Amino acid sequence: MKTINDFNFKDKKAIIRVDFNVPLDENFKVTDATRIEAAKPTIDAILAQGGSVILMSHLGRPKGVEEKYSLKHIVAEASKILGVDVQFVAESTGDVAKNAAANLKAGGVILLENLRFHAEEEAGDVAFAKELASLGDIYVNDAFGTAHRAHASTTIIAQFFPTEKCFGKLLAKEIESLNKVLKNSEKPVTAVLGGSKVSSKITVIENILDKVDHMIIGGGMTFTFVKALGGKIGESICEDDKMELALEILRLAKEKGVQIHIPVDVVAADDFSNTANTKIVDVNEIPDGWQGLDAGPKSLAIFEKVIMESKTILWNGPLGVFEMESFAKGTIALGNFIAAATEKGAFSLVGGGDSVAAVKQFGLEDKVSYVSTGGGAMLEMLEGKVLPGIAAILD
Ligand code: AMP
Repeated sequence: MKTINDFNFKDKKAIIRVDFNVPLDENFKVTDATRIEAAKPTIDAILAQGGSVILMSHLGRPKGVEEKYSLKHIVAEASKILGVDVQFVAESTGDVAKNAAANLKAGGVILLENLRFHAEEEAGDVAFAKELASLGDIYVNDAFGTAHRAHASTTIIAQFFPTEKCFGKLLAKEIESLNKVLKNSEKPVTAVLGGSKVSSKITVIENILDKVDHMIIGGGMTFTFVKALGGKIGESICEDDKMELALEILRLAKEKGVQIHIPVDVVAADDFSNTANTKIVDVNEIPDGWQGLDAGPKSLAIFEKVIMESKTILWNGPLGVFEMESFAKGTIALGNFIAAATEKGAFSLVGGGDSVAAVKQFGLEDKVSYVSTGGGAMLEMLEGKVLPGIAAILD
């Protein structure tokens, strides 16, 4: 796996695919600069060696050229974070881009206009990728969030750099962290899968059954399993058409020696609302008119034991409707168990939009080993897929 450490960037122009798809407010101010900060180590290292940098990214989902999605809005913030004067280039291809790249001096940084102003980007157009490639000497991919897309700048461009291509520090760290869970993991390995639906996690569950010793299944998925096993789930969320599949997962898990832990009790509510009446009930005995919206105390005690004994932990998806305070306790407790296990020496990886949001909201970001930046990309890796953006560098 080639990283930027395998190259000397002195007097070289690095063309880097970054993920500067940051949220902006109505005055086009960056409201969360995490993604720009995440790209800084790679950019710093290249500049420190006497290289120069051409940054390319997408921003939002523009339909053609749309001023509000121009990357010019983030130039000031990027300059501040990177500590250099980032020059904006109003075109990503053509003479404007070529001249800007040609005039780039050691230590300089330019940022190309939003790649998605050209339909060719998402179409993976080879000619467009070739034009982008012509701007730099070494291609660096540091955008994990788009690594599962075979777009011009994330994948297709790599073919124009037979050897001069590598992963940036962020992407390398993402791959390394996932490998620590999926390939070189220290046992026992526990995966916690929550969220609302079995259907969106099924491929992940099937793939990781081969890699884990314990699997905790929580959140809304719980009830498809419980109903399939004959329990009474009241009005809880359930995918009836996935009940057979749930039983098949339980059968497969048994065959593979994986211990599955499903909540034994839940916080049930008489309405899907923060102010609903609530009571703790057995997961198999949820009364009509009530729905399970969080894991109960007995379940949490079981989960705590499993997690504290684990050496590797993967967490994707909340244990309950954590957006409502009344049903956030399970997810908060789980985050704390994972933090405690991490302190004891376990490796913990948190990924997937909602669990990342939960970890941030509850201030646990620095207490887990790694928080993944790419939701969709991480899920696809957990599903066992080879991501095109990663494969293109490994070629
Ligand atoms: P996902 O996008 O599939 O990871 O699901 C995340 C969503 O699942 C969050 O918005 C949670 O509110 C929701 N969720 C978690 N537990 C439950 C539950 N017991 N009933 C309904 N929704 C839930």
